[in-house]
This record gives sequence, structure tokens and C-alpha cells, in this order.
Amino acid sequence: MHIPTLIERKRDGQELAPNEIGALIDGFTRGEIPDYQMSAWAMAVFFRGMTPAETQHLTIAMMNSGRTLHCPNDSPPKVDKHSTGGIGDKVSLVLAPLLACDEVWVPMISGRGLGITGGTLDKLESIPGFNVNLENDRALRQLQQIGIFMIGQTADICPADKRLYALRDVTGTVPSQPLIVASIMSKKLAENLDRLVLDVKFGSGAFMKTRLEAAQLAEAMIAVGERMGVKISHLLSPMDEPLGCAVGNALEVAEAIVTLHGHGPNDLVQLTLDLAEKVAIAPRAQLERWLSDGTAWEKFVTLVEAQGGDATTLKKMEIIHAAPIVHPLPARSGGVVSRMDAETIGRAALFLGGGRARSDDEIDFAVGLSKIRKVGERVAPNEPLMFVHARTDQHLAAALALLEKAIAIR
Ligand code: URA
Repeated sequence: MHIPTLIERKRDGQELAPNEIGALIDGFTRGEIPDYQMSAWAMAVFFRGMTPAETQHLTIAMMNSGRTLHCPNDSPPKVDKHSTGGIGDKVSLVLAPLLACDEVWVPMISGRGLGITGGTLDKLESIPGFNVNLENDRALRQLQQIGIFMIGQTADICPADKRLYALRDVTGTVPSQPLIVASIMSKKLAENLDRLVLDVKFGSGAFMKTRLEAAQLAEAMIAVGERMGVKISHLLSPMDEPLGCAVGNALEVAEAIVTLHGHGPNDLVQLTLDLAEKVAIAPRAQLERWLSDGTAWEKFVTLVEAQGGDATTLKKMEIIHAAPIVHPLPARSGGVVSRMDAETIGRAALFLGGGRARSDDEIDFAVGLSKIRKVGERVAPNEPLMFVHARTDQHLAAALALLEKAIAIR
């Protein structure tokens, strides 16, 4: 296959054939196609887009670049959720054990945080001992034993995506819809799912800023998934204020644990149930019961122990990961909270060290924001709008300066 010709054809807006897309991905995965040619092709896709058929073939080629999960034919339905990412989004920590209480398997492969959005793997790793790097065989055994695993993308799952994403990250080609669709769906389809629910977020703290963009992305992901025999459902959910009342790794795990005890913030509980009922067998009332009667919590403890985590630490996450400085952000005036800008709040958490500006940055599990007030709540003058958990005075000052601009009270 003559690679420059494929790049030129894409540059000129032509449709590539399945075998041409396959050759590109195979050659790139094997290291035979250099980064400069793959970058040029990705940029051509960025400007020219891809047809639905091309997007599907790219997804299949990326999925087949590595191993896929093989479950016995008579296994229960395999279900999962994908979120396009938001601020304070700890839904997976609650939803995965909740679904695993049902007659389904939950093989959840998640990502790390990058930029203002957090990642499930980082949150899980704030639990001492929790191992997100299980070998395929061990992960499958765990699925058979307890119906759930929560792991990261291993070297042998979609290696083409791993390499291509790293290249996109440094060549301005991340925000290309077909490349995003193929990247997300190849990893999810490698889990060999029967049902997948997509939480496509829109708003200031989301990748997609408008509901229309989110709907278009959802439609493209659904088209690819359904053609491959997976039942896909979706929700478009607003991300203008953080989800729940905590942002930051250990702080979010603590909030997820409260939620697994039936006392979570309403927006987090409702979104978790809305997503869960799209892929569960059990009706919503049963899911609600599992969340409030301790069943989902027990499943979470079982999961943590199965993956090497120290479950005795779960109820003291805020003590184990205590930031040296915890400072209130007082309301300048009384009134009703009319805006809590998720993007700026996410940026403040990033500044504090709770996220990564670059993929190799270290995460500080202890820092972040807690007791964040919700839009529509009434506050008195000087009442705390949230608490900032910081490592140093400089970090605190920078975060407070940002946060002042993120909140409006009327
Ligand atoms: N998440 C992914 O996994 N891939 C993308 O391309 C964008 C978000």
C-alpha cells in the first residue's frame, strides 16, 4: 500500500476503502508507518472528516489492533457506560458496583484524567493498594467470580488507539469527531459488550460545549456501536456546574462512598440511576433499593478487595489523604447561587494539583474542593460556598482567585 497516496486521497476529501484504513492502522501499530505520515493523515481527517463507513472501519481496525475480551458464550449480558467526561463526575464509582448487583457483568475499562476532567483510574488509585492494571486472564476470572472489574487500558487493548491518541495530543488533531468516535468506541467494543450507555455531556465543563454538538457525537457513536451489534443507549447531560459537591480524587471517592450508602447528592444519584436503568435488567426501583440498602456498597467493597485495595481505608479517605490546608471560600453577599462555572472550577482543581496538564504529570490525591454549593441554593453573606483543599499557600491563593470568578449570586 502506498501511504502517501492514502494521505493525498484523504486530503482531497475522498473516501478510503476498508482495506486501506486497515493497512494504515496495521502499519502504524507495527511501527512501519512513521509518526509524520500518521500525523499528516490525522490532520487530513481533521479537515475532511470521515464517512460513517470509514469511521466504522477505523473503529474495527483499532479494536483489532490488540486483544479483545473473550467471555464464555453463556455469560450474562456484559454492560458498561462511557462518559465524555466532566467536573466532579464520579458516576462510574457508584454505577459499576450498582450494576454488578444485577444479573449482568460489568467489564469496565476506564481512562485517566487529562486537563480539567478527572479520570476514574486516578480516583480508584487514591484507594491504597487498588490495582487498576490486571492481566486479561485475571480480569476475566474476577468477572466470573464477582461480576465486575474496573481497570485501565492495558498494552494489549487497542494499542493503535494508544499510539494514535498520543500523536493527536501533540498535533492539534484531538477534536476530530470521527477520530474521537473511533478512539472511544474501539476501546469499549474491545470489552465485547452487549449493551453500552453513553453519557454525553455538554456545557462549560464538558468537551462538547453545546447540546447540538453532544447530540451529533452521540449519534455518531451510536451508529458505529449498533452496526457492530451492541445495543447503545444514551443520555445528553448538562455539565455547567460540577456533578455532586466534591471535585478531586480522594474527595470524590469519599462522595461516591456516601452515595453507595444511600446518602449521595441528588444530581449524582439521579444521573447514576438514569444511566443504570438504560442497561440494567432490574427495574429502577430495585436499583434504588440496592443503592440505599447497602447491597451496592458491599459489592464495591468486594471489588476493592478483589483488586488488592485496602477496604478498611474506604471510610477514612479524607483522613488518609488530608490536604495540609483546608480553607473556606466565603460568599461575598447573600442570595441565591445562580452560576457555578464547571470549567473554571475544574481549572482550579487542576491548579491545585488534582489533575494533569500533561499526560505524564503526577496527581495529588488529597487536593480539590468539597461541600460545593449547588445552583439554586440560598446562601447567607460569608457562608462558605465550598472548601478548598490545598497543598501550599500559593496553590490556595491561585485557586481562590479563579474560584471567585466561577460563582455568581443573585
Ligand atoms: N477520549 C478518548 O478516549 N479518545 C478521544 O479521542 C477523546 C476522548
